[in-house]
Amino acid sequence: MDIARQIKEIAEQSGFLEEGFLDTRRLTFYPEIRRICEENTCRNYGTSWACPPAIGTIEACKERVMQYDTMLLLSRKYTLEDSFDFEGMQDGLFDFKKTIDVFDRKIRDILTDYLLLSNEGCGKCAVCTYPHAPCRFPETLHHALEGYGFIVSELAKEAGVPTTARIP
Ligand code: SF4
Repeated sequence: MDIARQIKEIAEQSGFLEEGFLDTRRLTFYPEIRRICEENTCRNYGTSWACPPAIGTIEACKERVMQYDTMLLLSRKYTLEDSFDFEGMQDGLFDFKKTIDVFDRKIRDILTDYLLLSNEGCGKCAVCTYPHAPCRFPETLHHALEGYGFIVSELAKEAGVPTTARIP
């Protein structure tokens, strides 16, 4: 089985619903998205080693990503009661992080060098060490995708991963 098929199988075994590959040469790193981080709309800015400013400048993030030829985008599906279901959103946010951790443990069997980003914030520890001491779990620290200046819907379109949301 080729490596791409193996990676997709591991993603599905980990709990992801859809996966799609992208050529990193086609990626755009938007400074505007980083500026949204800096406005702290999500309240994660400067609160952990997973988000800006700890992850470095957008140029540093780009340099990190461009060491690789291919990006794999992963998705899961969550059902919300309505557009005010903040508890459901929080549950989804942390469930996605857990699924990324499962994938990380499994993918190590076949890949030795990769960069695995996750969704916003970290949340592994009750109180983060940032900025006074190093991360307690650097081997499982996954930077936030949004902090790299990506528009997730754009990545999904390029990767052929559906993002349709329907609020009842
Ligand atoms: S793993 Fe803990 S110390 Fe490291 S960034 Fe996350 S919350 Fe902070």
